[in-house]
Amino acid sequence: MGEAVIDQPYAYRRAELAEPDWRRLPGWAAVTEAEWESAQWQRAHCVKNVRQLRDVLGPRVPESFYADLARDQAERATMSMLVPPQMVNTMVPALAPGQPGFAEALFADPVRRYMLPVFSDRRADWPSHPMASRDSLHEAEMWVTEGLTHRYPTKVLAEVLPTCPQYCGHCTRMDLVGNPTPVVAKHKFGMPRDDRLAAMLRYLRANPGVRDVVVSGGDVANLPWPRLEAFVGELMAIDSVRDIRLASKALMGLPQYWLTGEVRAGMERLAATARRRGVSIAIHTHVNAAQSVTPLVARAARAMLETGIRDVRNQGVLLRGVNATADALLDLCFALLDEAKIMPYYFYMCDMIPGAEHWRLSLAEAQRLQQQIMGYLPGFATPRVVCDVPYVGKRWVHQVARYDTERGISYWTKNYRTAVEAGDPLALSREYEYYDPVHLLPEPGQRWWRARAAGPAREAVGPARALAGRPRSARGSGPDRAGHQPAGAAGA
Ligand code: SF4
Repeated sequence: MGEAVIDQPYAYRRAELAEPDWRRLPGWAAVTEAEWESAQWQRAHCVKNVRQLRDVLGPRVPESFYADLARDQAERATMSMLVPPQMVNTMVPALAPGQPGFAEALFADPVRRYMLPVFSDRRADWPSHPMASRDSLHEAEMWVTEGLTHRYPTKVLAEVLPTCPQYCGHCTRMDLVGNPTPVVAKHKFGMPRDDRLAAMLRYLRANPGVRDVVVSGGDVANLPWPRLEAFVGELMAIDSVRDIRLASKALMGLPQYWLTGEVRAGMERLAATARRRGVSIAIHTHVNAAQSVTPLVARAARAMLETGIRDVRNQGVLLRGVNATADALLDLCFALLDEAKIMPYYFYMCDMIPGAEHWRLSLAEAQRLQQQIMGYLPGFATPRVVCDVPYVGKRWVHQVARYDTERGISYWTKNYRTAVEAGDPLALSREYEYYDPVHLLPEPGQRWWRARAAGPAREAVGPARALAGRPRSARGSGPDRAGHQPAGAAGA
């Protein structure tokens, strides 16, 4: 009997990984394999401005592309440009500049769309949501000591440094991470780094209710290895700390770093200590597109697993034009799981930062994607699509309490208190809001937002105010009584 072929919405085929040939790019035509695999070479040759990108891609890319990019940097970008060669090389992986279709493919490329956003990508009508803000998750208001966000009862986020080896256009921590851009001045930590880290450790020693520490930034790949190893070693010495997650997009963006002898040996030492003490150490990375998973990325992830750490997991971000289809998400999850042994874990909805409306999805779209990806991956590797609701935290997209689809306002509840609402009797009964992109709403809903943006509350909702922001400081004002985010008040 012949095999019955059932037509499925998604057809799984194992896809072998291939490192795109960097020698197709004029600026790197003479780069050797040894240079390419050197973390130092990669860091030294990051693309930091339009001129450097032109030097790499060459004159056969239309000037209109470079002009579009320059305009975005000048007028919209919330993150400065920083793209390691590894990531540049995954853009339009099968074509060389000048080959037919390269320019169109570059404009359409998923990695380009979020690492090198151009002005024409953004919405002209609503570049930002009226309620968008810097530090849209209000992390700084929940700082218990500078850079240590205590937002969940048993978990903390330690922002150990404000830099990364690569800057993503949609970065949630756009108010803190990276260099200033023409439209966004960055918050600067006030305390010297080592004092900050020491204060974090003191807090954790004094608060045994915290068992889980996300060591993030920024990206831990930018902290000198001995400093990171010492900090993680001290965390492991705290009895109550049972889970440690090291956040590094560089496992994908700069896998060469995680393959260096120093880092591999250091991770082996940490993994051995963790095993002895019964602590779980994992690396959490941030991969948004299947083409980013190259043999080098798979080698780095496997090398980390071979050190004996608990896991390597992926937290991607849902972005229109990048990965917002079930096929794109499933291709990515299978590339991660099958080839790199990276566990698909979360897909976040993009946070409500300024300039993100062209990337953001509505809650209904996110719910549909969650539904569409169910059943193909093993249950343990089926990522949850989550909405990080301001003042609430991560919620699975189907946990919404109420949803006004005309105005695009979803209402959420929470089941624990953070420091900002410690004395608030209504914290657990209040509804907290998240907003769909206005351009996706039916006309009456768009009209409502236009009227609101033009009304007396205008000064509270304009993008300029959102960009100006206010300084980060620990323990801010918290939500107002109606659960709205205070205006003007961004995770790996
Ligand atoms: S999203 Fe993560 S890796 Fe990207 S710039 Fe922000 S902190 Fe850095």
